[in-house]
Amino acid sequence: MGYTPGKIVCVGRNYAAHARELGNAVPERPLLFLKPPSAVIHEGDAIRIPAASRQVEHEGEIGVVIGARLRQADEATARAAVQAVVCMNDVTARDLQKTDGQWTRAKGFDTFCPVGTPVPIAQDADLTALEVICRVNGEVRQHGYARDMAFSIPFLLSTISQIMTLEPGDLIATGTPEGVGPLRSGDVVEVEIPGIGVLRNPVTEHVTDA
Ligand code: MG
Repeated sequence: MGYTPGKIVCVGRNYAAHARELGNAVPERPLLFLKPPSAVIHEGDAIRIPAASRQVEHEGEIGVVIGARLRQADEATARAAVQAVVCMNDVTARDLQKTDGQWTRAKGFDTFCPVGTPVPIAQDADLTALEVICRVNGEVRQHGYARDMAFSIPFLLSTISQIMTLEPGDLIATGTPEGVGPLRSGDVVEVEIPGIGVLRNPVTEHVTDA
């Protein structure tokens, strides 16, 4: 049994180059959405392409695991509550994201949240030194650096904690760098955070969903 997050709070458009590639601007404040915990799968589990979508895409991201309750926290308190870093893939039905006003369907299908094994990170570690690489069938599609985030990890956690209490075990998806693209049945997608690990998942067609 792998890591089972509580809440999964995600940040959209947190890298300027990725916002641009989809024709969007970086927002004035963090753009937040939720993925349901029921979407979680682990290393080696298959991402299933639902019948409802013709455009399922990978979003390799740096995941942050919360280690202490945060409520209306300042950035220093938020930083101190970062317990671990984890590879994750914010799998997205891009066509449904564009047609739906809300992103719940596009982001929320079963299997749309592959997560790796959280790796504890030191209190004095430089979070801006983190980087994330996403490969499809061994080919690099995304390579981003935390230092290029529009909003830093402590700022994100502080901001989220003004809205909702963050609990130990909650997962924050800190946004994806540029290079998002399609996943097709038969692909293998990998998300690597150097020093943290590699998360690998095959992709299959849906079996039976309405
Ligand atoms: Mg994302």
